[in-house]
Amino acid sequence: MSNPLQWHVFVSTQIPVVTSDLPPGVAERRWSPISSTLISGERDAVLVDTFVTLEQNRTLVEWIAASGKNLTTVYATHGHGDHFFGVNTIRERFPNARFVATRDVITIMLEQASSPVLESFWKSRFPGQIDSTLVIAEELAGTVIDLEGEELVSIPLGHTDTDSTTCLRVPSIGLVVAGDAVYNDVHVYLAESNADSRKEWFAALDTIESLKPRAVVAGHKRPGVADTPNIVADTRQYICNFDRIAADTQTAQELYNQMLALYPNRVNPGALWSSARGVKP
Ligand SMILES: [Zn+2]
Repeated sequence: MSNPLQWHVFVSTQIPVVTSDLPPGVAERRWSPISSTLISGERDAVLVDTFVTLEQNRTLVEWIAASGKNLTTVYATHGHGDHFFGVNTIRERFPNARFVATRDVITIMLEQASSPVLESFWKSRFPGQIDSTLVIAEELAGTVIDLEGEELVSIPLGHTDTDSTTCLRVPSIGLVVAGDAVYNDVHVYLAESNADSRKEWFAALDTIESLKPRAVVAGHKRPGVADTPNIVADTRQYICNFDRIAADTQTAQELYNQMLALYPNRVNPGALWSSARGVKP
């Protein structure tokens, strides 16, 4: 028997966001901390998701290099730019690493990297900080990435915090890298979904639980917290609470205040503000 695969998670800093859309009484918006997961064997490793800015991704690549592993593959769980804009920086250090995603994720990536979205959304929020070279994934053939004979399996999850999301499951070690289907002690970004499409999100959470993982890594997590499977139920509960309170309130401010009263300590209330404004413009 070879040694089991190892996995480690690196969480980005919470960088400031340039925006005028601030919750009342708040002076600054910050981006949620982003997670990147390195799954490694004896020699080789696979990275799941990157960070958003050049500086964040330079830190990420130093962390990968310090592992001493040969990075063979980068996998993107979903198409949001904050999880794949770092691939060029990583390829500068690991030129042989393949970058793969599902066909549907690539469709979202192409939108995210298109000039209108790039200029109006990403570059306006992070001026001068986005890599001028954005790499789009090639389509993953089949559903499996091989890592020294062990299988890493891409599982489609449908709509969660955006369309066509996936998770990556590593059956041999009971790991699910969940992308943005699951949040770990960070306010959940609900601005791209509505009460109806969130049924698909609940089904995705059911799918993850049905895999009986021993560890679940959320795409956005508080640095240092454990990657325990109960964060799947916590995410479901958060979304249920949001929908219930949204039905009982009139304004974004009321919804925001009542959710903050329920979750006073979650990271990044700014994400909650976007979610509240999404249902009550
Ligand atoms: Zn995200």
